Amino acid sequence: MSLEHFDVLVVGAGLSGIGAGVHLQTHCPGKTWAILEARDTIGGTWDLFRYPGIRSDSDMFTLGYSFKPWTAAKSIADGPSILEYVRQTAREHDVDRHIRFRHKVVRASWSGDDARWTVEAECGEARETRRYTCRFLYMCSGYYRYDAGYMPDFPGAGDFGGQLTHPQHWPENLDYAGKRVVVIGSGATAVTLVPAMAGTAAHVTMLQRSPTYVLTLPGEDRIAGALRKVLPERAVYALTRSKNVLMSLAFYTVCRRYPGFAKKLLRKGIAAQLPADYPIDEHFRPRYNPWDQRLCFVPDADLFKAVRRGQADIVTDHVERFTPDGIRLKSGRELAADIVVSATGLQLLAFGGMQIRVDGEDVNLARTMSYKGMMLSGVPNFAYCIGYTNASWTLKADLASQYVCRIIARLDRNGGGYAVPHNDDPSVGEEPLIDFSSGYVQRAIESFPKQGSKAPWKLHQNYIKDLITLRYGTLEDSGMRFVAGRDDTAAAAEAA
Ligand SMILES: Cc1cc2nc3c(=O)[nH]c(=O)nc-3n(C[C@H](O)[C@H](O)[C@H](O)COP(=O)(O)OP(=O)(O)OC[C@H]3O[C@@H](n4cnc5c(N)ncnc54)[C@H](O)[C@@H]3O)c2cc1C
Repeated sequence: MSLEHFDVLVVGAGLSGIGAGVHLQTHCPGKTWAILEARDTIGGTWDLFRYPGIRSDSDMFTLGYSFKPWTAAKSIADGPSILEYVRQTAREHDVDRHIRFRHKVVRASWSGDDARWTVEAECGEARETRRYTCRFLYMCSGYYRYDAGYMPDFPGAGDFGGQLTHPQHWPENLDYAGKRVVVIGSGATAVTLVPAMAGTAAHVTMLQRSPTYVLTLPGEDRIAGALRKVLPERAVYALTRSKNVLMSLAFYTVCRRYPGFAKKLLRKGIAAQLPADYPIDEHFRPRYNPWDQRLCFVPDADLFKAVRRGQADIVTDHVERFTPDGIRLKSGRELAADIVVSATGLQLLAFGGMQIRVDGEDVNLARTMSYKGMMLSGVPNFAYCIGYTNASWTLKADLASQYVCRIIARLDRNGGGYAVPHNDDPSVGEEPLIDFSSGYVQRAIESFPKQGSKAPWKLHQNYIKDLITLRYGTLEDSGMRFVAGRDDTAAAAEAA
């Protein structure tokens, strides 16, 4: 039976997959392509998460696509506005008609003889299997499990008389008005939820095991606001995007090179927001250096405002067990609660859990090495999109998609065939793909591909370096093999 064939298959219709569609349309006209999406809607993360206050924690001038200006006043934007931005992009660029919804990709098998992938998806409620073939497979499937967030096994959770919930599965009609809420966690989600629920809830407590670095940012970009009065929207976007790239890179570099100085600066910023007698070191002095874990941004100091108003507080302690009325802490203190939100994070998952086979052999992802942060050693005509940990996701997503288009054009010039990263340099050491010390990374990173200790295997986490390498750098380097296609081989044989 002949299977439906595409030049390119993209997996995932989130921010990255929709962007990939636009890049393919623009840079690879004439190619056939489709997006396979497990869910029944566009948007990925920005549709899945529905908790109060859901918002970006990086600015929309860099979280937005390179080709579509973010025109709203808010620079740190709410989830529904980001979702609408992604959907609008899909509509405007006619990407939506290329999406096959309710297609969960479970397996992809590469055949070197045919130079193509066979991609297997489970479709709809009945999980009927459908197969497609493609020349190039591009994974835009995010980096975490969609069906379950991470919920620790809290002792006594079953005894709790109130409601225990996770932000990834927010109950649609959860009424927290006048209720006592405890949010367990100290990451971006907890820092978003606490001010969003404060004021409506009777009281919100953020219960953290250990502190996180927190930095206040203005919710609106004043420079962009001023530029809008005199410049067209595209110019405002380009200038503000460049400014934000440079500022975040400079801030990150200072934090990594001068951690002592950065710690003082961050502490000063927090002290300016809280009463003089507030125990800052107890609740806001992490044990690690800035950017050993992701830094949390607080727009317009909303978290601190809620604390100052007495609507919220922060407790740094450990859960000993749940009780019928709330949580007993290791210090002996009891926190009474009607609702407990376990903002304890994600479960990382590579490539949506898909099984990958190359010429009949299962690929053990943990034994592959990431090439330029977007392809894998030994896996032909395959790319993936995972954004930066220290800057906006889309900066990398745009570069990765453009690079995929360059590879596809190069393959065309080669008469088809395939591109496969290959490491034969014994001096390249192995390092974890993400070098964060955060629990959610440490729990899963062993099962992810590795990165190498030097280029082209090293992840720069640096937009400017990647811009030079991925947009303007050569496609031919020591790590990449282009294998000629049949057309080319036949032509060479004829010529001989
Ligand atoms: C709450 C939250 C807030 C965030 N805020 C920011 C931020 O402010 N700035 C930032 O830079 N990053 C942020 N991130 C990271 C964020 O995930 C990215 O910004 C971005 O949304 C990722 O887009 P994506 O399309 O790559 O992945 P996702 O949004 O995860 O979308 C992946 C899509 O692939 C589909 N899929 C997965 N597996 C399969 C499969 N096997 N078959 C078919 N389809 C599949 C999923 O259903 C989904 O639709 C945040 C993440 C979370 C969870």
